[in-house]
Amino acid sequence: MGNIVLHGHKFKIKISASEIQKAIGDVARQINADLKDKKPLFLAVLNGSFMFAADLMKKVHIDCEISFIKLASYNGTSSTGKITELIGINEQINGRTVVIIEDIVDTGNTIENITVQLKEHGAAEIKIATLLFKPEAYTKSLPIEYTAIVVPNDFLVGYGLDYNGLGRNLADIYVLDYIADEKK
Ligand code: 5GP
Ligand code: MG
Repeated sequence: MGNIVLHGHKFKIKISASEIQKAIGDVARQINADLKDKKPLFLAVLNGSFMFAADLMKKVHIDCEISFIKLASYNGTSSTGKITELIGINEQINGRTVVIIEDIVDTGNTIENITVQLKEHGAAEIKIATLLFKPEAYTKSLPIEYTAIVVPNDFLVGYGLDYNGLGRNLADIYVLDYIADEKK
């Protein structure tokens, strides 16, 4: 708690573990009400969403399945450019209600990409549940049904989110302390 240092940069606490849990409870309540007859398939996007997915799913009490996906990007041929492939889909998607679980929606590129691919797999309905949402950075028009916490356009770490690999294990969420960095 308080301030932490990752890779030599100072971060200060922004959202406490108890605030996070309370916000997740609110999202879970909405999901329990909205999707109770849909037997949804939750797809948590690795790596960042692992903590949110675990805590959210403990509060979701309807019949559902959960699985994990990852976006792997690699360079295609010169004509195709960079390709992002959705890996980890082993479940039957066709005709199902799918809920994408994300750690944070920033520009929206990631959720848009995943949504396109899930539609190709025949998903009947796609909903997005995100722990954090940065409306100032969002460039898409896809609706985000379930947002736990709206945040400004700052760089955050903790509770699944990393800074160059560090910080995913923190129970609270921290923000990069630019002022402290400038004074160094
Ligand atoms: P988008 O595709 O919406 O622009 O961004 C989604 C991904 O960018 C997230 O899943 C996350 O990996 C990364 N990201 C966006 N904002 C932040 C942030 O404030 N902190 C960290 N650690 N990652 C972020
Ligand atoms: Mg993510």
